[in-house]
Amino acid sequence: MNYIKIMDELLANKIAAGEVVEKCVSVVKELVENSIDAKAKRIKIELIESGVREIKVIDDGIGMSREDAKLAFLPHATSKIINEDDLFHISSLGFRGEALPSIASISEIILKTSTGDSGTVIHLKGGKTIKTEVGDARVGTIVIVSNLFYNTPARLKHLGSLYAELANIVDYIHKIALSHPDISFILVNDNKTIFETDGSNNQLKVIKEIYGINTVRKMLEISANNDDYEISGFVSMPEITKSNRNHIITLVNGRVVKNIELNKAIIDSYHTKIPINQYPIVILNIKVDPSLIDVNIHPTKMDIKFSKINDLKEMLTNTISSKLNKNRVIVSPVIKEENNDNYKVQSLELDRNNIEKENIFDNYTETIEINEYLIADNNNEYITETIVDNKIPELYPVGLVKGTYIIYQNELGMYMIDQHAAKERINYEYYLKVLGKNSHETISMLFPITIEFPYNEYIIIKENITLLLDMGFEIDELGSKSFVIRSHPTWLPKGYESEALKQICDLIIVKERDFTIEKFNERVAISLSCKMAIKANENISHLEMETLINDLRNCNDPYTCPHGRPTIIFYSNYDLERLFKRAM
Ligand code: ADP
Ligand code: MG
Repeated sequence: MNYIKIMDELLANKIAAGEVVEKCVSVVKELVENSIDAKAKRIKIELIESGVREIKVIDDGIGMSREDAKLAFLPHATSKIINEDDLFHISSLGFRGEALPSIASISEIILKTSTGDSGTVIHLKGGKTIKTEVGDARVGTIVIVSNLFYNTPARLKHLGSLYAELANIVDYIHKIALSHPDISFILVNDNKTIFETDGSNNQLKVIKEIYGINTVRKMLEISANNDDYEISGFVSMPEITKSNRNHIITLVNGRVVKNIELNKAIIDSYHTKIPINQYPIVILNIKVDPSLIDVNIHPTKMDIKFSKINDLKEMLTNTISSKLNKNRVIVSPVIKEENNDNYKVQSLELDRNNIEKENIFDNYTETIEINEYLIADNNNEYITETIVDNKIPELYPVGLVKGTYIIYQNELGMYMIDQHAAKERINYEYYLKVLGKNSHETISMLFPITIEFPYNEYIIIKENITLLLDMGFEIDELGSKSFVIRSHPTWLPKGYESEALKQICDLIIVKERDFTIEKFNERVAISLSCKMAIKANENISHLEMETLINDLRNCNDPYTCPHGRPTIIFYSNYDLERLFKRAM
């Protein structure tokens, strides 16, 4: 007797569903992508109870003939690829022919479709066709999926709260709408429209629908290309930040993609401009010959492999950094941000009963309507006009508040500078400059410093001793765990020599695998600048205030400290008058 048996088709589909369908959003995703592949221009997604009860996707795409409609639910049935070669030139969103049979195996489905002739209606339950009827002839397709996971109770239990399921779907629809600004999307939950785009092929308009007009005003447009890649899109100015990476959206040939390396390159472009653990909003479109990418590395097709990724990363960082550097502004505290950040809701877990009472979207659609009149069709009208010539104007010191904030003024208004942050920026750029030099002037020490390390750290330092020698330190080994420093570079902060040296050694010890001397110098500069800056709560003279502002004005990027916190805040005369109600 043999133990190995070939699985029946329905069971195999159910197992495949485990990979493709995890949550309601997976079904929405597969159906919407089918509609896009079918060239729909208008896609409406109607949910009942966040999709847990029912998901209905209506499109005006090409539809299916009766024969195709029947075939669509068979495993590996696809109109999108025929042979292996096609796999390397995929331009459609789907191609595995897995989605419909998988979804069908764990739900009830009604498919209504027509290519313009007589329409077809197919009812399925648990993957089995129950009946096929003649339907109306409206060109397009309607797929209604209900009772998802009814026959896989373990998976049903794993669905999130209604709130979480909805938040995931909204997040997905936002992203797909961004990637297809030429398609009009309408998302409805329990008869309430929660998101809508007009399909006018204006990506910035979609960004506005998602983030609101005030955010859109702070988005900068980017574009660049090299031999293989063409990039375009919008990046937020550093003053707009989010607490997670979810707003960095990468679209590759119209496909929403998550790629850690690209995200890192984007975040690096904001280095020292936004605080650590804060992230920008970035909508990045990448156009590339499909043969240079591999999308088939995961069934959800979310991750992607790029060839020549380093060139792409470099172009990306250069493009974003130079755009940001050209558009630096002094932060004003009177900026009003709209409160329609519905991404935040994802982290909240409300229970099923609360969804009625606490519908996050109640205010959301309203805000959009209010803003509507502000919107013009011209793309560029959303973009902020920037006032910067990249320099802080000349300022005159007034006094010091709480030993920390220095008030300055000029004819435009009042400026507050955080003296610690400002000093950090000045020191940072100073150390970066001296560390970048090839030769260093040195001073020999009257009293050599001895530093001792645990043995494991000692050997790392020993292995990397050239880093220290190249910086201008004269170092000898002493015993089996210590070094003695006889001379050091002149730039080492006076009075802090051994502390600074310890910090440098610490950075050598935690040296990363992708070590570069530039990155190392940069870390040393940040570390030294922070320690050696004037501590807050320290009084400084008028003259020192003048020196500080002049040094800050001479920085390349004076607006934030190396940790991304603002150094300077501006109250215009008008802001002050408004605050004191002298002007309205
Ligand atoms: P895939 O999208 O990977 O080809 P699916 O199982 O999602 O596989 O769909 C199977 C086939 O059904 C598609 O290749 C397509 O021909 C057809 N199809 C599915 N949805 C639609 C739709 N909304 N409009 C037209 N054809 C569709
Ligand atoms: Mg599909």
